[in-house]
Amino acid sequence: MPAPDGDAAAGATAGRVYLVGAGPGDPGLLTARALELIALADTILYDRLIPASALDGARAGAELLFVGKQGGGDSVPQEQTEELMIDRARAGRAVVRLKGGDPFVFGRGGEEALRLRDASILYEIVPGVTSGVAAAAYAGIPVTHRGLSIGVALVTGHEDPDKDVEAALDWPALAAFPGTLVFYMGVRALPHIARSLIDAGRMPEEQVAIVERGTLPGQRTITGTLSTIAERARAELVRAPSITLVGPVAALAQELAWLPPAPLAGLTVAVTRARASASGLARRLESLGARVLQAPAIRTVPLPGSAPDLARYDLLCLTSPVGVDALFARLRAGGLDARALAATRVAAIGPGTAAALAARGILADVVPERAVAEGLVEALGELAPPVHRALIARAGEGRDVLPDALRARGAEVEVLALYETVAEAPPAHVLREALAADYLTFTSASTVRFFREATGEAELSAGTRIVSIGPITSEALHAHGLAPHVEASSHDIDGLVHALLADACAQQL
Ligand code: SAH
Repeated sequence: MPAPDGDAAAGATAGRVYLVGAGPGDPGLLTARALELIALADTILYDRLIPASALDGARAGAELLFVGKQGGGDSVPQEQTEELMIDRARAGRAVVRLKGGDPFVFGRGGEEALRLRDASILYEIVPGVTSGVAAAAYAGIPVTHRGLSIGVALVTGHEDPDKDVEAALDWPALAAFPGTLVFYMGVRALPHIARSLIDAGRMPEEQVAIVERGTLPGQRTITGTLSTIAERARAELVRAPSITLVGPVAALAQELAWLPPAPLAGLTVAVTRARASASGLARRLESLGARVLQAPAIRTVPLPGSAPDLARYDLLCLTSPVGVDALFARLRAGGLDARALAATRVAAIGPGTAAALAARGILADVVPERAVAEGLVEALGELAPPVHRALIARAGEGRDVLPDALRARGAEVEVLALYETVAEAPPAHVLREALAADYLTFTSASTVRFFREATGEAELSAGTRIVSIGPITSEALHAHGLAPHVEASSHDIDGLVHALLADACAQQL
């Protein structure tokens, strides 16, 4: 049954299921409501075709369950997905069922809603931007246009002419439709679709555009006519996900195409760092045109503990944005806020950590030029007056470079463990794709270790280039038999992106 109160935009309710559309792939096309629910959900059941960064905002303790197709193989059976959804809702969890595009456009959202209704579970539907319209728009194709198209039909192209899996399409009716036809799931059946439309009376010269990976990095548009498109698609190796648009508007792609070419277009970059910290890196790479594969090998888990009495220290060192989050969570739990830092000098290891502090109203007193412990040690040496009592708030396990150096200078040093990193094993198909990506990026020694634990001895593809953020990570890579091809000279996200970009340009020469 639908939510009775009608306050669709308020929070997320325990025991309720949210059927949420995640849009066609560009994270910018996630709705505000989708983002809100992802951040509040206890359980998220997600499909394959959702934006790579869609789960970044999920709570640290949220249960994330992949229920989509495993790399062209079998998907989790629909029945099992529905059982999971119902089971978690009955256990009192707020459940988000996250689907690509719109949940009610070839998304089986209707079936799932019926099942929830039968199980007397409250649900809410959050529409999403559907790929048939969005991929077209990103290719410069308006699905309706005055004088060219008076309507749109969204059609499944999944008809299997041999197996008769779905009810056969009414080709004469589709051929006679006086507007744009948008075929979803039609890559394999494209020759059949084009032939059937011509046979049923649509003109062979009718314009057709295929938009592959619409709104995603590496989007491509292939154009032709009903009589040429199947051959064009074969020659261009068109792959799913793609939509096929049939009608005069398809020709507008040539005039209205607006996406700029991007330097990393056509390249897949695998990111192994924790999801919560990966979004900045992923966004930068995507804006350069790369396809980002999130293969997080680690996850950060906050450690229990009370808020530290910061007034006792004359220096507080923070070594990661996650650490900043965890520290402020402890302060908040203790009824404190940023004013707890009023009497203490604050050092951040790098620009990411400094930005996380700035977001909470704290401008770091020290940010070294080199974003590694050694850089911070150096920068702190110039601090006046010198440090007497320092608190280093960081991950449970970490290198002792900073505490040792401060102690050697006569300071009293305490290390506060705020969180720990634990292994996170991505699904097998993600690991396989990561090992075959054009670039495989590592941002810490622990990511290298956990990634290798997850993949075992599996070999990298011959063309895969390994990018390391700096010497410590490179050392770990060598120790695991993965020699890095590229090492960033500035050991932060900017430096890593810069090094990767330079390498990609050099490779293309
Ligand atoms: N509910 C989804 C559609 C799911 S069916 C929606 O509203 O968009 C899956 C099909 O959607 C794919 O086979 C493909 O035809 C289309 N599709 C999904 N994402 C796409 C994308 N980024 N670019 C092009 N087509 C896409």
